[in-house]
Amino acid sequence: MDLSIRGARLVSGEPVDIGVMAGLIAEITPASAHPPPFLDAAITIDGEGQAVAPGLVDAHLHGWQALLRGVGPDMTLTDYLDAVVGRELSGLTPDTLHYATLVRATEAIRSGITTVFDWSHAAVDREFSDAVLEAYESVGIRAVVAYSGGDEAGARRFAELDGRVTGALTSLGPEYGSWDAAVRDIRLALDLDLLVSVHVGAGADSPLWRLRAAGLLGPHVQLVHANQITAEGAKMLADEGVHVVITPVVEATMGHGASAYGRLIDGGVRPALGTDVVVNAPADLFEPMRATLQQHRLGTGQMTPAATFLTAATEDAARAIGLAGVTGTLAVGHRADLILLDHVGHQPDPAGALVTTGRPSDVNTVIVDGQIVRQSFSDA
Ligand SMILES: [Zn+2]
Repeated sequence: MDLSIRGARLVSGEPVDIGVMAGLIAEITPASAHPPPFLDAAITIDGEGQAVAPGLVDAHLHGWQALLRGVGPDMTLTDYLDAVVGRELSGLTPDTLHYATLVRATEAIRSGITTVFDWSHAAVDREFSDAVLEAYESVGIRAVVAYSGGDEAGARRFAELDGRVTGALTSLGPEYGSWDAAVRDIRLALDLDLLVSVHVGAGADSPLWRLRAAGLLGPHVQLVHANQITAEGAKMLADEGVHVVITPVVEATMGHGASAYGRLIDGGVRPALGTDVVVNAPADLFEPMRATLQQHRLGTGQMTPAATFLTAATEDAARAIGLAGVTGTLAVGHRADLILLDHVGHQPDPAGALVTTGRPSDVNTVIVDGQIVRQSFSDA
């Protein structure tokens, strides 16, 4: 084995030994085995007293905005579109974009995020795209970068990315852009076998219904927000296999509306979570998990187990960005993307404790693709 983690508790509670080989999870065994396995491992991490979880998956962010963290506490969506996507984006250079992406990727790793989906307004040509792709490559995080150039040659280049950093497409979609452009973007995604990500409100009068009638919806489409989705709309999206990402902290702070999580779950969609923008929200996934739990318990009056919401930031998030079976779960044969956390490893329900009380400083070790990308000394 290249790496072993000894004696950490899975978020479900069982202590295990994990062996990692060639970037993959090679073996997971109960920690009680004698003699202990993987004695030949090149690196052994003592996980005693810690929880081991799948690396968190941030299914929606805009990496180029990392240097704007905190600039817009009172921005509405309209203010944000004017000031950030309008003025700030137009002043961006490839260098600034590169540094911003390095910052966002580093912040992600520090808070236990091992994979990001970057909806990149800025990746519009080769030079700007390279600034983003090279930043993710160098930091060591797993990333899906969604290209916004709209042209076939650029999109094809993203379709050919293979490895830890892969490609997808963005589309303004039929609510924010023209119908014809949305159709063209979705057809391009289908042709190139890429996921296409679209911001929507998804209310009853949304052109999503027209996209469905045109046969353009399916698992190649990922919607973001969908705060106005109806029960009927949620069921339609589930039937079509469309992915949905919600970003509850930003949605509540900026006035998009209440989270659609409950309606989506009731309709059969498994929503993913994202951090989205940092102008008025933190860059970690602990707050979106907690915001989802709080809105759901307040709305339903039910004590849905806290551990449920970890799935939205791991397994369901991986599926929503096209990486099911690659990351988001601790399973033999999946990429070795995992995190060790202090504090929650001591609790009777580690997953529930992670969701309700976890914070970035609890994350002491982060492994992506079998490589240790962060390790801090524990005071646990
Ligand atoms: Zn967004």
